[in-house]
This record gives sequence, C-alpha cells and structure tokens, in this order.
Amino acid sequence: MFTIYNTLTNQKEKFKSLHKGKVNFYSCGPTVYDYAHIGNLRTYIFADTVKRVLEFDGYEVKHIMNITDVGHLTDDDLNQADSGDDKMIKAMKRLSAKSSDGKEKIIPETIAKFYTKAFMDDIEKLNLEKANFYPRATAHVPQMIKIVEGLIAKGYAYEKNGNVFYDLDKFPSYGKLSNKKLEELKLGARLDDHPDKKHPYDFALWLKAPKNHILKWDSPWGEGYPGWHIECTAMSMEYLGETLDLHTGGEDNIFPHHENEIAQSEAYSKKPFSNYWAHPRHLLIDGKKMSKSKGNFYRLQNIVDKGYSPMAFRLLILSAHYRSNLNFTWKGMDQAQKNLEKITKFVNHLKENLPETKKETNLTERSTKTADDLFTDLHPDECLEKFSLAVNDDLNTPLALSIVYRLIGKINKLPELTPKQAEALWQWWERVNKVLGLKIESSKIKEEKIPQEIIDLSSKREKVRKDKDFDLADKLREKILSKGYNLEDTPSGPLITKK
Ligand code: AMP
Ligand code: ZN
Repeated sequence: MFTIYNTLTNQKEKFKSLHKGKVNFYSCGPTVYDYAHIGNLRTYIFADTVKRVLEFDGYEVKHIMNITDVGHLTDDDLNQADSGDDKMIKAMKRLSAKSSDGKEKIIPETIAKFYTKAFMDDIEKLNLEKANFYPRATAHVPQMIKIVEGLIAKGYAYEKNGNVFYDLDKFPSYGKLSNKKLEELKLGARLDDHPDKKHPYDFALWLKAPKNHILKWDSPWGEGYPGWHIECTAMSMEYLGETLDLHTGGEDNIFPHHENEIAQSEAYSKKPFSNYWAHPRHLLIDGKKMSKSKGNFYRLQNIVDKGYSPMAFRLLILSAHYRSNLNFTWKGMDQAQKNLEKITKFVNHLKENLPETKKETNLTERSTKTADDLFTDLHPDECLEKFSLAVNDDLNTPLALSIVYRLIGKINKLPELTPKQAEALWQWWERVNKVLGLKIESSKIKEEKIPQEIIDLSSKREKVRKDKDFDLADKLREKILSKGYNLEDTPSGPLITKK
C-alpha cells in the first residue's frame, strides 16, 4: 500500500486512486526560457520516482507534464504580483543581445523549441520515463479562454480594460494548500501591483498585450495573453479530467501557483481538483536556493563535463528523502559515483554468471557454499519485500537504497555465483531497478571528462569571436574537432561534447 505526504492535508496518507488500478497524474513542467538546472531536475526525478513506485505496485499511470512557453512572468512567483516581463520575452531580449551582431531577433518559438529539446535530452540522460504527453501552453490558448469565460460567467472573475482577474473574495477556501489566510494576503499584497485589479491580492487570468507584444492571441477581451496559472488548469482538464489523483511540482509551486490552480479549477468544475498534492523540497547549493535568476546553478551537462555519470546524479537525488532539503556538493557527487560503480560491478557480476554464460559445474565448492550461506542470511525475496515497504512508505528512497547496497556489497565480495543464484538476483535487480531507474552501462564506469586544454581552446574562440576575428575562431574550432570533440554554438554559449 502506497502512502504519500499530502500537502493538502499536511499528513502522510494511504493512496487511493479514483479509478481502481489507474492513476491520473499531472506534474508542472519546465518554463522553456533557459536550460533546466539540477534543482529543477530533482523535482522531475521525484515525479518519475513516484510514477515508478505506482507502476511497481501495479497501477497504470497516465502522466502529463506541461511545457510553459507563455505567461510565466518574472515576478509571478511573488505574492500574486502580475508584473515583470514574460520569461520567454526576457529570454528573447537576452539571446538577441548575445547574437553575433546584436541585431538578430530570436523569436520565442525558436527559444521554446531549443530549450524543450534540451529538456528532452536531460530526460533521456536521466532515464526518466516519458510522460504520456508534454502539452505546450501556446497550443492550448482556446481551452484557457473557455475556462476564463466560464469563471466570469460564474462570478469568480472580472474583466477590466482587456485584463481578466480572479476575484479571490469569491473563493473562501483559498489558502487550503499553502495554509495561507486570505487575511494575511490582504496585508501583504502590493497595492500598486495592477491598476485594474479590484483587490491587490486578485491574480491575473488574462492580460492585455501591450503594443508590439510578440506573444498575443485574440480573445473576447481583445488581444492579450494568458496568465501562468490558467495553463495548468486547462491542460490537466483537457488530458486528465476535472479531478486528478495526484499533482506534483517543486515546493515553490505551492504558493501562489498551485493555490491558484485550485481556485480556478474548483470554481470552474465544482469538483475537487486533485486528491493528492506532493512537493519535493528544493535542491540547495552552498545552503542557498539554486535559481536561474540568481545565477548560482549547475546544469546536468556541467556535472557530466566533470566526468560524472547522469546516473550518479540520479543516485545522489535518491539518496536523500524528497521532503528534506538536499545540499548539492561535489563530495556528494563523488560518493554517488562510487555507489554507481558498486552497482555496475554487481550488474556485471550477475551478467557473467547468468545461465546462458556459465555452467553450474564450473563453480568451485567453496564459493557455492559461501553464496548459499548468504542466501539464507539475505534472501533476494526478503530484500524485495523490505525494499517495497521502504519505497511505499512516502518514497523512503534512502532506506530503499541502503537495503540494495547491503545485498550488493555482500554479493560483490563473492568470487562466484551459481547460475541459479545469479538468476534469482537478476530477477530481484530487475524489479528493484524498475523503481530506481538506473541505466547501467556494462563496461563504461566513468564518463570521460572534457580536458582543460579543450575548455581553454573554446574560451579563446569565444573571445576572438567577440573581437570579430572569425578566421582565427574557425581555426580554433577545427583544432577542437581534430582533438575528438564536437563544438555546438547554443543560445547560451558553446557546448562541448566528446565525438
Ligand atoms: P521552472 O522551469 O522555473 O518553471 O521550474 C520547474 C520546476 O522546478 C518547478 O516545479 C519548480 O518548483 C522546480 N524548482 C525550481 N527550483 C528548484 C530547486 N532549487 N530545487 C528543486 N526544484 C526546483
Ligand atoms: Zn503548473
């Protein structure tokens, strides 16, 4: 029986889905204005692990993760501040200024495509199970407009000067997810936030587009663009129905994003929006929140460039409980890489001893006996049971991993296994790894580091490119290629990979 901490009720609860054996699961996905940082990836690994545990338990999971390519304003995460630039427009300005002559206009669609692909590459590298669908906000504007119209008709929203706001006074249960009281919000909200709001704590469902605004659509209220929160209501309802079994996102999504999703969805459908809400804590760096705006973040590629496997990063994330903050350190990565090597050794050991590759008669008397002793002491079935209890107990992955390491540590010390034992262990590993999701490459233990010489050549090339010495820049690029590395110019700088 799966139990999970439900942010809505502030307690660990037994999970019960609306329809027997099926789970409707929605996760807030990336805003594709930049690369995902490893903090974002912690949140996606969490969603993947929840999904894997549910599948381990026999559920059929329908998982939808949205791609935000419009409407997420730079100040959106603050106290209902409907101010600041759209993050996509901000990225457009940043990348256009960075382009070779500063004149090239890079449109939001190109940016969204580029960073969606980068996100998909991360998913692949981290071996996350693909969601059933990754709907894009810009492809669902009619659905959003329909819900906003419904909210106006039902008296939950009002329009002024082409802007539509949610009237929070009309939704008394507001704050049930974040435990915020409307009274506190009234005190905290900025009075000057938007001149068309009835109350400063109301939030935007639709905003009038300023002149020359690139991302805009026709609507019953004139040309404009949707607020960030409405996209998740529209896309979850479109693909999963009006009540979800489970909804996840990082802890900073609880307020205001998820609180607003609840207000919109429940006022519109008159049904509970999601029965369970789960939020992993943030990944910290030097004890502080990692964020794109502060610039204190790493990408998965930065970790890979230092010679670590993406699977080691996955293990690092699983080694901490999702409801505790995890402080990212390189020492932690070293340990995770060592643990991955232990698992790789174990998997190789099994492969060498599986029935197709080895005959029982080849084994020495001594090793068979030791393995038998071990099997009475630590039987794989028993380990599977303990592992299952751990992951089903609010995703206690650190405990689950300690059970795995204990068995693996003992097996790795054995010189030989009988094919029967190897087979039993292999079946155990396949079950356990359904949840851990590790892609183990048999021979390759450590990824290759990008040598300093190549990094220096690329930095030099960047410098001469800025000075417009394109001949020298081309020569430097050729030198990098001739040394066995690829160099790709991406909107946020050069990306070096081994050929
Ligand atoms: P964004 O691309 O900014 O919309 O964020 C994507 C997801 O990452 C959201 O669910 C955020 O809550 C989550 N997130 C943002 N920063 C962190 C962090 N430092 N650690 C873990 N999750 C994060
Ligand atoms: Zn969302």
